[in-house]
Amino acid sequence: MSDAYKQCMEQLDKTCEVIKEINKKGGEFDLVQGEVDVLRNPKRVIEVSMPVRMDNGEVRVFTGYRVQHNDVRGPYKGGIRFHPQVDLGEVKSLAFWMTFKCAVVDIPFGGGKGGITVNPKELSESELERLTRSYVRAISKNVGPHKDIPAPDVYTNAQTMAWFMDEFSRIQGQNEPAVITGKPLELGGSLGRDTATAQGGFYVFENILSKMRIKKGETTVAIQGFGNAGMHFAKIAHNSGFTVQAVSDSKGGIFLEDGLDIEAVIRHKTETGSVQDFPAAQNISNEAVLALDVKVLVPAALEGVITHANADDVKAKIILELANGPVTIEAGEELFKKKVMVVPDILANAGGVVVSYFEWVQNLRNYYWPKQKVEQRLKQKIDDATDLVWMQVQDYDINMRTAAYIIAMERITRALKLRGI
Ligand code: NAD
Repeated sequence: MSDAYKQCMEQLDKTCEVIKEINKKGGEFDLVQGEVDVLRNPKRVIEVSMPVRMDNGEVRVFTGYRVQHNDVRGPYKGGIRFHPQVDLGEVKSLAFWMTFKCAVVDIPFGGGKGGITVNPKELSESELERLTRSYVRAISKNVGPHKDIPAPDVYTNAQTMAWFMDEFSRIQGQNEPAVITGKPLELGGSLGRDTATAQGGFYVFENILSKMRIKKGETTVAIQGFGNAGMHFAKIAHNSGFTVQAVSDSKGGIFLEDGLDIEAVIRHKTETGSVQDFPAAQNISNEAVLALDVKVLVPAALEGVITHANADDVKAKIILELANGPVTIEAGEELFKKKVMVVPDILANAGGVVVSYFEWVQNLRNYYWPKQKVEQRLKQKIDDATDLVWMQVQDYDINMRTAAYIIAMERITRALKLRGI
């Protein structure tokens, strides 16, 4: 079992243990072990091999995955990642987290995830297009608007989604925009989807700051990862008057005590390919970003970056998990003891899948909403989920991750019971 999937199983066991403890003290959670066990394994694992002709005429063979974890609450939903480290264990974990994420924000989807083991930075645009189309052909029988609806993830974007939608529509012989979300606006994308993960994270962040009575003026922020999630979060936080002292990308980080001008950092990254060497700021390593003395740390890159080995170095009071799985379960427990509030991924980054749900609804109805309506409905969903998680934290003196998992598990197992196994 991969390390990441071990983490998922540990979280499942931990959630059950806590529920049993709560029930011993008079709680009334309906926990049936057999139902929990359904969540231990994905319902379907698809592994495909894809030969792709490269621009120089050679053929390279790539491996891709689609893991469908659980669909008891609705069609499978989850992104597609293009990254050299993609393997089955990682995709299984990401699919598992999606099942819980959709349940905690109460949208009618299950959990799935896909990925291709590739370094997209080494491929040309047309090679990436051929690879994406090949992947669609390989998994087309298992996806669809009412079966499994992918979306963007690390190193995939609106263009990747457009190729996916086009290839799937060709196979079906009709337009099928609802097969995938995160599309360009011209092809049925939703207003607000590009910034949704960060915007949702920002609503959680504001809500938690207010619950913890932390003022804007005393809130400094460091962000690891400067892509869709991290860059948009930095921009929204900066534009809302928060001091973003550090950001980083795969090449390293930058720090400026008085706060970075995020628009200028974005321009610098566009021109040079990295945030590093930004004028006036100090270059720092990605590890150093995690140990900065800031109020809020936002890991927004990859999983497993805060572990037992470096949890003690963390000085932030709040960790907002915009990435999936950035803090290991063990490190989370250690941070809880140190009174660091870890806002779990399945809540903190759920904005992306919530607006993906809105996109899917708009596609099925062929009627499109203004951005204000999207943001209003997103805020409502995120605030409701955050308030509920917070209530459980207060009622049972547990960490936010366990609270979020308990809420999700109740919803999933209730659906299972109603449908029958
Ligand atoms: P992205 O491809 O847009 O950006 C990834 C960023 O991470 C880039 O800035 C890259 O330079 C940086 N990065 C890569 N390796 C790094 C490393 N070792 N150290 C520091 N930075 C590194 O991807 P994204 O969509 O922003 O996804 C980031 C995280 O957010 C992932 O965990 C993803 O699963 C999660 N997430 C994304 C969405 C979404 O809608 N895009 C939704 C929910 C969760």
